[in-house]
Amino acid sequence: MLGKNLAEVRARIAAAARAAGRSADSVTVLAMSKGHPAASIAALADAGVRDFGENYLQEALPKIGAVGRTGLVWHFTGMLQSNKSRAVAESFDWVHTVDRARIAERLNGQRPATAARLNVCVQVRTDADPRTGGCPPADLPALCQAIHALPRLRLRGLMCLPPPGDSATARRAQFHAVRDLFEQLARAGRPAAPADDAHPGLDTLSMGMSDDLELAIAEGATLLRIGTALFGARPAPIAPAAQAP
Ligand SMILES: *Cc1c(COP(=O)(O)O)cnc(C)c1O
Repeated sequence: MLGKNLAEVRARIAAAARAAGRSADSVTVLAMSKGHPAASIAALADAGVRDFGENYLQEALPKIGAVGRTGLVWHFTGMLQSNKSRAVAESFDWVHTVDRARIAERLNGQRPATAARLNVCVQVRTDADPRTGGCPPADLPALCQAIHALPRLRLRGLMCLPPPGDSATARRAQFHAVRDLFEQLARAGRPAAPADDAHPGLDTLSMGMSDDLELAIAEGATLLRIGTALFGARPAPIAPAAQAP
């Protein structure tokens, strides 16, 4: 079933990329495996998926241990709490939800010296509601500059997560806004400094999920975070009490 789901997702991506005049290779599938067992991750990895995303540390760490790291890239896409940042810095290759300088500094300080730099996307708040996560657009340039200065992090791009229940029109508008911000940042960049190993430049727009991947591709997404369309419906989320440290 996973192989068939993956083929269907790849066909949707190919069609959407063609419609947008983009190459299907410009879009990577990040399989959101939260709620699904290590065996399903291993099966998708065997089918050729390399990138996996998890939201909850307590769930993710044993699964990473079981599936392993060889040839795989692990992305943390959940809410970043300060008291959990060390385990994130030690166990993941990417973090998609950096939204303030303080958490970036913690991750930088906690990233083991023996590991490669931690790849980081800044989550952008696309909704005026201050309770939703993400960096307000007005604060993005300063936050990105701060991350550029941290030697154990590599700033790769932006991430957005439209609130559940938003219409297709509202989602597309948010994807469009984030792409605009991405292009402004890439232009402002570090004009004096060429891209180098530490800062390969901004190359990642993490947006689009099972229901809206076509809209996200039309707006320039490079990394799609796909759960349900690959794995099927998730079991009920783990209760908050079970997530306590
Ligand atoms: C679960 C999750 C997704 C994937 O959602 P689906 O609708 O199941 O594809 C994407 N992004 C984040 C941050 C998630 O937690």
